[in-house]
Amino acid sequence: MLQRYAQTLLVISGLFCPFNWAFGQAPGANNGGDASSRPSSQPTTAPTSAPTQDGHSLDDKHSIEQPLIDPNSHEPLILSEAEWKRRLSEKQFYILRQKGTERAHSGTLLHNTRSGIYRCAGCGAPLFSSKTKFKSGTGWPSFYRSLRRRVKRISDRSHGMLRVEIVCARCNGHLGHVFRDGPRPTGLRHCVNSLALTFEDEASHKRTNRQKPESTGVMNQQK
Ligand SMILES: [Zn+2]
Repeated sequence: MLQRYAQTLLVISGLFCPFNWAFGQAPGANNGGDASSRPSSQPTTAPTSAPTQDGHSLDDKHSIEQPLIDPNSHEPLILSEAEWKRRLSEKQFYILRQKGTERAHSGTLLHNTRSGIYRCAGCGAPLFSSKTKFKSGTGWPSFYRSLRRRVKRISDRSHGMLRVEIVCARCNGHLGHVFRDGPRPTGLRHCVNSLALTFEDEASHKRTNRQKPESTGVMNQQK
């Protein structure tokens, strides 16, 4: 009797192990190299399905052709590495998903002085207002304030330095770093890769966005 009970337990545990293994693999196949910075909450709007073992989603093509659901949403957006590669240019993927840095003075938005909103090149979330952009002389677009709850800060100890990395709060795309040598009123300098941003001028922003811009929001308090 006891032996039969033990056999039953073995069969049941054998059934569940593959499921545990499968769940353990999914996050690794999903991340773009910055898993440590991913939010703990799961996205509810990501237009994707679970990736297969080679990192491809069964409906990759379908999801790529679909626009991202409401870029102004605060819902986390987590896509597979394969999907990010299809959505982004090679250089954008290097910056946003592999924490790369573009060459100084190479960005097309560095000298942009038009009024509007700077959005994440990965997910379209609004990140910075042109009202907070300033000339830092560093060679990268610089802002003294991010839009409220749109940018997360993460301690970065890479390259033998202690810096504060900034990422898009929605898709965790790497933007650049924030330093404490900026102008008033915040004293902060958000040093951002131009390739991590897209620009939407004020006229089209008003035309296409019903949501009120958060340009008057204060700097988020995340460390
Ligand atoms: Zn983003």
